[in-house]
Amino acid sequence: MYDVIIIGGGPAGASAAVYTARGGLSTLVLDKSPNAGALALTHKIANYPGIAEELSGKELLDRIRAQAASFGTEFKQTTITAVDLEGDTKYVFTADGMFEARAVIVATGSKGRNRMLPGEERLLGRGVSTCATCDGAFYQGKEVAVIGDSEEALEEAAALGKFASRIHFIVPRPELQGAGGHAPQELPGAQMYYRTRPLEIVGDNQVSGVRVKPAAGEEHVIPVDGVFVFLSGSKPGTDFLDGQVPLDGEGFMELDASMQSPVPGVFGAGEVRRSPVKQAVVAAADGAIAAMAADKFINRRASLIPQYK
Ligand SMILES: Cc1cc2nc3c(=O)[nH]c(=O)nc-3n(C[C@H](O)[C@H](O)[C@H](O)COP(=O)(O)OP(=O)(O)OC[C@H]3O[C@@H](n4cnc5c(N)ncnc54)[C@H](O)[C@@H]3O)c2cc1C
Repeated sequence: MYDVIIIGGGPAGASAAVYTARGGLSTLVLDKSPNAGALALTHKIANYPGIAEELSGKELLDRIRAQAASFGTEFKQTTITAVDLEGDTKYVFTADGMFEARAVIVATGSKGRNRMLPGEERLLGRGVSTCATCDGAFYQGKEVAVIGDSEEALEEAAALGKFASRIHFIVPRPELQGAGGHAPQELPGAQMYYRTRPLEIVGDNQVSGVRVKPAAGEEHVIPVDGVFVFLSGSKPGTDFLDGQVPLDGEGFMELDASMQSPVPGVFGAGEVRRSPVKQAVVAAADGAIAAMAADKFINRRASLIPQYK
């Protein structure tokens, strides 16, 4: 019986483990693959506070995991098959057997879209990005494409406007979608391509352009150094919860400010919730909050306790 089982060992789960293990709680992190999460796949990360040098997401993650392990966290690579979270003892069933804990923190992140554009996956981190806040600064003075029609796409394009010399805004629909059905104003300086379908992201080892097909025109390639894709929302990795924990219509966990779900002893952290900012530092902070709340739950303490060790 562990005090805490953390499902998912990305920045949210591994940071939660730093706090639970350092707080004296026996902690097991179950992760299906240390290389599968959003941070593990991130080519370069340059905005994690306290890390001045540029390093890969995997290197940053390895550091957080090593720190959690140094406080006694056990890591196990396995696939979750089912959970039973109702009672005081929480059961997690995996391909390698069943594990028990007093509390569970779900930190399985969210996956990209099911259908990617040809070239998108291959060139992810090599000019393809889904986060202007993360990667915009790498495109100082360069031409980029933004693909999408949502408000998110527009906001991210505005963030890119500070860096890119030109933004090619590819909008598959006749207009941008805005709150309440009102299309927001276009981005000043961006070249707009309405009713234009993105067909493929092209480039050998690095993005060199986007192949598009305008509704009334010929297929052609727009040459760019970077492509930011915001075609549809990501899907949280919460399928295995199987109705035991309330989720919203798109599968995100419903959590309070302490990262607690409505099920006692079940917490969430990172991109399994509707995170307002999709950044590693925010996921890590979620993990810290969830860990402190789990500690409070396990020890039935009246308020969040400080770290003692
Ligand atoms: C291309 C790209 C670039 C980015 N660049 C930056 C950047 O520069 N700076 C920045 O701060 N942020 C960046 N981000 C965002 C950052 O990576 C995420 O905000 C962060 O990784 C979310 O953390 P998480 O722990 O919630 O999820 P993840 O990092 O996705 O981790 C989830 C973990 O759960 C595991 N898991 C999933 N399902 C299961 C399951 N069923 N059973 C067991 N384990 C499971 C996965 O293997 C993974 O280890 C970037 C994201 C992308 C996609």
